[in-house]
Amino acid sequence: MLRVGINGYGTIGKRVADAVSAQPDMELCGVAKVSPDYVAIGAVEAGYPLYVVDETRIEEFREIGVDVAGTVDELVEESDVVVDATPSGIGAENRSLYERHDTPAIFQGGEDATVAEVSFNARVNYDEAEDADYVRVVSCNTTGLSRLVAPLEEAYGIEKVRATLVRRGGDPNQTGRGPINDAVPDPVSIPSHHGPDVQTLFPKLDIDTIGLKVPTTMMHVHAINVTLENPPASEDDVRDLLAAQERTIMVPEYARIDGAGTLKDMAADAGRPRGDIWENCIWEESVTLQGSDLYCMQAIHQESDVVPENVDALRAISGHLSGPESRSLTNETLGIGF
Ligand code: NAD
Repeated sequence: MLRVGINGYGTIGKRVADAVSAQPDMELCGVAKVSPDYVAIGAVEAGYPLYVVDETRIEEFREIGVDVAGTVDELVEESDVVVDATPSGIGAENRSLYERHDTPAIFQGGEDATVAEVSFNARVNYDEAEDADYVRVVSCNTTGLSRLVAPLEEAYGIEKVRATLVRRGGDPNQTGRGPINDAVPDPVSIPSHHGPDVQTLFPKLDIDTIGLKVPTTMMHVHAINVTLENPPASEDDVRDLLAAQERTIMVPEYARIDGAGTLKDMAADAGRPRGDIWENCIWEESVTLQGSDLYCMQAIHQESDVVPENVDALRAISGHLSGPESRSLTNETLGIGF
């Protein structure tokens, strides 16, 4: 049993905690939280031991009926591996905490790649994390792009990727984020930082990315052009290739799913926890081949696509299952694939 602690119990942390609890080879030691609020109450109701980040606030947790199991230091000491899901930049500050306890850690994509020895995606470089103590699961957008790039590169070779990322303004609980009535180039400089992040997984890939932010909390949508070195005979070949990927869903025309909102509605109807969509959702009709240029559009659920990747990163770091074994166990336990 791999004993896992979660430090930072927000959008990503709570989903990873639930996913870890669903694994037969893992035990959730507990979650560390800063503030006593509805999320802390939810953690206790889920049966997760709750540890505090700031000892001076223990009484505030007790006042709202939350039992405190200990401090984050104790959680890190008890854990075989910690998943750090704190806000961008805090993870890097926490690295010394994990080093002090000699506890390996998994960081998130909001951190610079330098926070860890390896930037990680389970489909791309599972084996590279085996000897690492510190691994960074790449961001939601980078995860989505990498899941598309990996099979295309293997099957046809890639000359160049150009991707426009239409990014959600904020997550549903981020009430202060925006824009609320605009489409904002973000970042306005081209290329955006996303391309270099994909290159942490594919160092030789030629990729340019452009980013915008729009008023939605649903999902990111990517409009992608890939120039292939050896294009297949027809775009149906590409559709078949992408449909065969474990964490990709081809959205068929007959389903009448016209946007991220209907995708999220379908996920909720399907009883997915929190309406989560762990897979890349590629509109089948958008897959178009013009000579060696492939085009497609995909939606990426920012709150959840990195969750299975975190679970696989835990196994990669502990080394007790191979990549295919881990991915298949994660997919089965979470219910990945509609
Ligand atoms: P979040 O704000 O929802 O959650 C972070 C949690 O950490 C909050 O509960 C916060 O109170 C807590 N926290 C703050 N300081 C802390 C500290 N010192 N110690 C412990 N906990 C602390 O953030 P999130 O969206 O879950 O993002 C976490 C990481 O995941 C970031 O690196 C982010 O870039 C990355 N990520 C986020 C998304 C997304 O869309 N939300 C997608 C992929 C990756």
